[in-house]
Amino acid sequence: VAMVAARHRARANRPSGALTAYASTQAHSSILKAAIVSGVGRENVRLVPVDQNLAMRPQNLAQLMDADAAAGAQPFFVCATVGTTSTGAVDPLEPIGAICAQRGVWMHVDAAYAGAALVCPEFRDLAAGVERADSFNFNPHKWLLTNFDCSAMWVRERRALIDALSITPEYLRNAASESGAVDYRDWQIPLGRRFR
Ligand SMILES: *Cc1c(COP(=O)(O)O)cnc(C)c1O
Repeated sequence: VAMVAARHRARANRPSGALTAYASTQAHSSILKAAIVSGVGRENVRLVPVDQNLAMRPQNLAQLMDADAAAGAQPFFVCATVGTTSTGAVDPLEPIGAICAQRGVWMHVDAAYAGAALVCPEFRDLAAGVERADSFNFNPHKWLLTNFDCSAMWVRERRALIDALSITPEYLRNAASESGAVDYRDWQIPLGRRFR
């Protein structure tokens, strides 16, 4: 849903040009899947080269984004990973965040695998720069021994998510939702399933 919200925001600003997304070569398969499901297309996901620690190289990210933009595409989404699943690599959030901010691109931080470590003050440095994120996800069900499928996502501006996913036919209208109460059906893809 982070990618869908980012797409909605990008399209509101500029309605044409292929949308392009970025993640490191070590990123999780869910980024490609999101691109497939959202219609962005896996061919529009760029896998950014990594350094000797298997972390994304920010200068390569900027080059790829600028080359795509120069070719008429619209870079709209960057996934930085804090703890890749296969290699435990941590992308440098500070420079990645600056690159995204300069270009008005959504920054998602995927800490699904290792984000639980941020509970410990001694590991918080790993997420330096996370303040710039538009969305952040971690999975308590992995290291915090909570029930499957506890995947916690934070989003900076819930409006982006809600505007991207709200469709309100007559049979779903109700006074409580219209009074501004949080209605989680607009935060996720399913309707007749519990919020997740
Ligand atoms: C497990 C994992 C995911 C997938 O998380 P879901 O909540 O199952 O969608 C995504 N990214 C990383 C890095 C993971 O380890």
